[in-house]
Amino acid sequence: MIVVMETKANRENVNVVVSRVKNLGLGAHLSEGEERTIIGIVGSPLPPNLEDELEILPGVERVVRITKKYKLTGWDFHPQKTRIRVRDVVIGGDAVTIIAGPCSVENEEQTVSTAKAVKAAGASILRGGAYKPRTSPYEFRGLGRRGLEILAIARAETGMPIITEVMTPSDIDQVGEFTDIFQIGARNSQNYLLLEEVGKAGKPVMLKRGLSMLMEEWLLAAEYVMAQGNPDVILCERGVRTFESSTRNTLDVSSVPVIQTMSHLPVFIDPSHAAGKRAYVPALALAGIAAGADGLMIEVHPSPDQALSDGAQSLTFDQFAELTPRIAAVAEAVSRTLPAVSGTAAVSL
Ligand code: PEP
Ligand code: MN
Repeated sequence: MIVVMETKANRENVNVVVSRVKNLGLGAHLSEGEERTIIGIVGSPLPPNLEDELEILPGVERVVRITKKYKLTGWDFHPQKTRIRVRDVVIGGDAVTIIAGPCSVENEEQTVSTAKAVKAAGASILRGGAYKPRTSPYEFRGLGRRGLEILAIARAETGMPIITEVMTPSDIDQVGEFTDIFQIGARNSQNYLLLEEVGKAGKPVMLKRGLSMLMEEWLLAAEYVMAQGNPDVILCERGVRTFESSTRNTLDVSSVPVIQTMSHLPVFIDPSHAAGKRAYVPALALAGIAAGADGLMIEVHPSPDQALSDGAQSLTFDQFAELTPRIAAVAEAVSRTLPAVSGTAAVSL
């Protein structure tokens, strides 16, 4: 249910609605637009006469029941597109955002050199895994805390905000000491307790699409984070499992326009985990931006053939630097920009 306040409603009017809702043991979430405030009420069961009770409160324009399963992630609750500020970077605005870096943090030199190279080429956020979900337990599973410390060194040297994956609720405090954005990986995207805990951690969350997740399930997973009071969720399409084995996953480009129809949340494309092979990464990255994605997450490594994880899909520094002007050109063609990179390069797929 949403309560749409009148344009002239004041803070006191909003507070009265919020405390009435909270006294009933329900959640009240504010969406403060330029013109008016909308209060999203979540919880169950909603008392049958709640609509009538709230409608007569001062400053309330109307009360609307939302019949869709997803509530806070939908446009009814938040009619403006969500913009998220992470240090100096704005996600979901006119500019597209490139997140780049190694799959795993391996050592200081590898991570800092990658951070410098991707920043120089136009990336604005550094990625790198310290806690790695691996399909086999015998593969490299990340440096843990040392990996987080290395990411913080790379941030100090470049000024880039960092994003890294958190895999379990017991790691949230530690990862939160370092990271600017929490990444929830595809494998954990329906780990509802993790989603709730990360929703309480007070930092933006990037939620990867699960391996076989429907759009609605994806939004409902985001809903778990938002229902804890965290409005800053970024969705990231990274390909889904299909019968096709030429690529690691099948990039579902349609998720961009579909999610944008359903939700105000920013949506990114991760061409690296979709492709699985670096040769396909540029085309998928350009397709994502052409489809209207708010940004990309791309794996880059100083020497991909020696990478401890996902080397086959990681771009070299040169390949990444060749790609970003093409991303800028496509961004310009769809009325977006890529700051710090000129959009004059010809686009060939
Ligand atoms: C990653 O970003 O390195 C990763 C493990 O991604 P995903 O969760 O999408 O597989
Ligand atoms: Mn990876």
